[in-house]
Amino acid sequence: MPRDLEGARAIVTGASSGIGAAIAQAFGAAGASVVVNYHSDEEGAAKVVEDIRSAGGQGEAVKADVSKAEDCAQLFATAETKFGGVDILVSNAGIQKDAAFTDLSLGDWQQVIDLNLTGQFLCAQEAVRRFRAQGHDAKRSPALGKIILMSSVHQAIPWAGHVNYASAKGGVKALMESLAQEVAGEKIRVNAIAPGAIKTDINRAEWEDEEGRKKMLELIPYGRIGEPDDIARAAVWLASDASDYVVGTTLFVDGGMALYPSFREGG
Ligand code: NAD
Repeated sequence: MPRDLEGARAIVTGASSGIGAAIAQAFGAAGASVVVNYHSDEEGAAKVVEDIRSAGGQGEAVKADVSKAEDCAQLFATAETKFGGVDILVSNAGIQKDAAFTDLSLGDWQQVIDLNLTGQFLCAQEAVRRFRAQGHDAKRSPALGKIILMSSVHQAIPWAGHVNYASAKGGVKALMESLAQEVAGEKIRVNAIAPGAIKTDINRAEWEDEEGRKKMLELIPYGRIGEPDDIARAAVWLASDASDYVVGTTLFVDGGMALYPSFREGG
């Protein structure tokens, strides 16, 4: 892994498993110091930190529920005390609580919105405040700070049976673009990644089942289910100064899933 994030300080939420864990490890390998946020899987977070440290990097595991403002602030306080500040936020934590529309409880609607949308708002708000307070050091980076929100192809593709999730991700798109527009003049770069189907715990039931895997593959023109590292490599680039002119963009990393694959044969 090229050391494209040498000396950078990053916070990755939901980093004890799946995409977040892969991003935290890739950031460490690229030279960043990483706050590895976890919600309940302390062991998973400790393993990610161990991997970062054994590759010669710095990592700190921090328990926080990022749907709560005071917990988000704790992540930034740790970045400050352990690493002297923060340059990159990857707001990745997210859940699914699926149900047919009329069976979806208000509680499950609210929980998904609280984490997948409000949690991203809270962490991004804290990041902007901290970036401003730290001030710009052009020797570190042309950007004052970088924020990557974790969206989904479902910011664009409607998803029956998952209206809470799709609504949250549609909100993430609007949040990301509006925030990017608001703070770009201060040299804060805000972007998002929209993964397609990536093999993690969130969709384990589908990809572990042969029939489920077949159905998933029908939706992926590139012909393979994604790996967390596919997203991690994109995140390293988006967090690095190699993407310095990329502002307010959603990078789809989806093997072509957003290309209306059912029209492959001409519709
Ligand atoms: P995952 O279940 O492995 O990761 C989700 C992480 O969020 C877990 O580590 C979990 O502990 C953490 N989390 C849950 N509640 C939290 C809370 N209140 N505070 C802090 N952390 C909390 O699944 P994943 O696929 O790696 O998901 C990561 C992100 O990627 C999510 O935002 C998800 O919507 C998005 N995504 C995933 C896919 C996919 O196919 N896997 C596709 C599109 C988008």
